[in-house]
Amino acid sequence: MVNTTIKTTKSQEVFAAAQNLMPGGVSSPVRAFKSVGGQPIVFDRVKGAYIWDVDGNKYIDYVGTWGPAICGHAHPEVIAALHEALEKGTSFGAPSVLENVLAEMVIDAVPSIEMVRFVNSGTEACMGVLRLMRAFTNREKIIKFEGCYHGHADAFLVKAGSGVATLGLPDSPGVPKLATSTTLTAPFNDLEAVKALFEENRDEIAGVILEPVVGNAGFIAPDAGFLEGLRELTHEYGALLVFDEVMTGFRIAYGGAQEKFGVTPDLTTLGKVIGGGLPVGAYGGRRDIMSMVAPAGPVYQAGTLSGNPLAMTAGIKTLELLQKPGTYESLERITKKLADGLLQIAKETGHAACGGQISAMFGLFFTAGPVHNYEDAKKSDTAKFGRFHRGMLERGVYLAPSQFEAGFTSFAHTEEDIEQTLTVARDVMSSL
Ligand SMILES: *Cc1c(COP(=O)(O)O)cnc(C)c1O
Repeated sequence: MVNTTIKTTKSQEVFAAAQNLMPGGVSSPVRAFKSVGGQPIVFDRVKGAYIWDVDGNKYIDYVGTWGPAICGHAHPEVIAALHEALEKGTSFGAPSVLENVLAEMVIDAVPSIEMVRFVNSGTEACMGVLRLMRAFTNREKIIKFEGCYHGHADAFLVKAGSGVATLGLPDSPGVPKLATSTTLTAPFNDLEAVKALFEENRDEIAGVILEPVVGNAGFIAPDAGFLEGLRELTHEYGALLVFDEVMTGFRIAYGGAQEKFGVTPDLTTLGKVIGGGLPVGAYGGRRDIMSMVAPAGPVYQAGTLSGNPLAMTAGIKTLELLQKPGTYESLERITKKLADGLLQIAKETGHAACGGQISAMFGLFFTAGPVHNYEDAKKSDTAKFGRFHRGMLERGVYLAPSQFEAGFTSFAHTEEDIEQTLTVARDVMSSL
């Protein structure tokens, strides 16, 4: 029997107070549950595949702090390594052996990366890579895809999907028009649109940046040949190809989506998993390009806390855990069981739905689909998703509070967790 009457009094109290203290009561917008309705729960602790809230309720977690928790939350080996590192201090602001260790691991793992620079977030990694791609090519325009997220730097905040997007108008007040006037957008999976942009802007496009598997418009896989086509087009027009693997790095495969699909970009951004739950981002790629980054070269980018010993330690231990044989096979197995199960239940309970999964990343849209791009994704019944989300939450399953976010599993999730989740999903979908 599933419990449908969770008590969330304390969560409500804490969140009410937070709203007077911080904009929207949160430190990052999606956490506020605006798009699914209802109040967010306030966490007290996390462990393995589970979250406990301040009222003592336990949830199976499919957000994994938005991706980093691929080993499960607070893995004992990560925590032990952090305890040890903590004794030596929290920040050096100077070179450390730990940076070499993590850099070597990243370079060994990710096909495109010959040199790497550590930063503190995915946003910073994308900002750094943007400056670098422009400097290297001596061109200013970039192509991004509608619905792809590359952090909150001005140039990437171009409204996805609408006519405003094609004009390069900013998505947020406070972003100067000039900052986005060089950002061109195309629909995901549309090589013809990309080719047309290259034709219209000959010798002006520095490069193409994308999420090789989209997670920030819901889960959208690349069509067969799309990534290969981008590789060819960028070569043809003398532009760089940049994979933003902040979400997919070490999640789609140990070497990221580029390993999985066998397409090697010129530059790559990383974050999330490589920080093992601490704030880390990185960008890397071809040695000739990365050699332009200061102080080796003239392209400026810096950070007080970049490469700090705690973050490096959590990253190193997390990657070590991921290297264990069978990790990605088991992630694939449980995530497929979950994604297939959800689709099957939607079908049996009469809901139009589509979705999918690659490795430890999955999604479910309440639309018949298929979903090849953001425009397709927007056809989803978001009101229904909101009710689904709330129903799952009330029965102990924590999903990302938006139709347009991918879900994540970890190797702490067991077959029983998945079965429990599917039982709950059947219950909720039957009542939608
Ligand atoms: C999360 C994410 C970012 C931004 O990373 P932050 O650490 O939140 O700044 C950039 N790109 C992609 C693909 C992401 O998923």
